[in-house]
Amino acid sequence: MMDIKIEKTTAPKAKPTDESKLGFGHIFTDHMFVMNYDAGKGWNNPRIVPYGDFPISPAAMCLHYGQEIFEGLKAYRTADGTIQLFRPQENYKRMNNSAKRMVIPEIDEEFMLYATKELVKMEADWVPHSDGTSLYIRPFIFATDPYVGVKPADHYLLMIILSPSGAYYSTGLNPVKIYVENQYVRAVRGGTGFAKTAANYAISLAGQAEAHEQDYEQVLWLDGVERKYVEEVGSMNIFFVIDGEVITPELTGSVLPGITRMSALEVCKSKGYKVSERRISIQEIADAYDNGKLDEVFGTGTAAVISPVGHLKWGDKVMTINNNEIGPISQMLYDTMTGIQWGKIPDKFGWIEKID
Ligand SMILES: *Cc1c(COP(=O)(O)O)cnc(C)c1O
Repeated sequence: MMDIKIEKTTAPKAKPTDESKLGFGHIFTDHMFVMNYDAGKGWNNPRIVPYGDFPISPAAMCLHYGQEIFEGLKAYRTADGTIQLFRPQENYKRMNNSAKRMVIPEIDEEFMLYATKELVKMEADWVPHSDGTSLYIRPFIFATDPYVGVKPADHYLLMIILSPSGAYYSTGLNPVKIYVENQYVRAVRGGTGFAKTAANYAISLAGQAEAHEQDYEQVLWLDGVERKYVEEVGSMNIFFVIDGEVITPELTGSVLPGITRMSALEVCKSKGYKVSERRISIQEIADAYDNGKLDEVFGTGTAAVISPVGHLKWGDKVMTINNNEIGPISQMLYDTMTGIQWGKIPDKFGWIEKID
């Protein structure tokens, strides 16, 4: 395994004292991990250096043609002070799948897990203590060649930055309002929907803005071809409970394969629920609603874990789900997954990776 060079900051920042005001994605720790890729040489020069701005060429290829991928995971502090990660191997496996699609050189998954642990260990004091808080981990790779032409780059930077983040639900598990997008699409089969890449977010902003204008928080995307089948929400996968059956759209290439999605499916199966990964149309959901069989709707993702959906708007139809309250399966999943993540219940699935 490559050695990681360490350069410590001489000017450590004051850590946030009021953990109720952490929010998400604004504060960064003292250090970051950096590694270069150069054609012919491969990934090289892994290092942990002081967090800060760095120079980049105005012609850097990532700025012009968007060759970039990222990941998102969290470090959790347990009651006894241990810091732990949730299925981090899955993040680096997915990062390599994203890399292949975007013609970015693949990484050594085992080395990246080691680098992540080393960085988090060094920044352990930045992992917040209050209930529901965590340290968000953002690995990303982007093309740096100074060249304004379209081709896969020869030079890349891989970085990991860390951001202490607040409890997602400071006021309880409030259901979100979701708007079914009829005009724009997010992804099509054969495109980049399954890759965690900046482009997928750039193209989602217009629909998101439209939802906000109508006082909805997030967009539910339909398939890009027929615009009939449900795909996913902004940065979450989506689940429906219809007549006791837990349903989520199957992974066809246009849906991001969420690690929370995969884990929620495994938890539901282990508890004996009927679980289906299949195509589900928005019409089927509306019909289930009209027949009183749409029991629960929820999103899954690293940020919120489980996000109950209270309102779903499709054209002129507004569906109010489970009285705008969290349902029993959503609550069970939330309690089980956050229980494992923060070490409050035994991890019988083997999902936890401790940082020692
Ligand atoms: C990251 C992401 C998700 C959720 O994935 P998790 O691994 O569960 O955090 C869902 N949809 C999109 C578009 C994403 O980028």
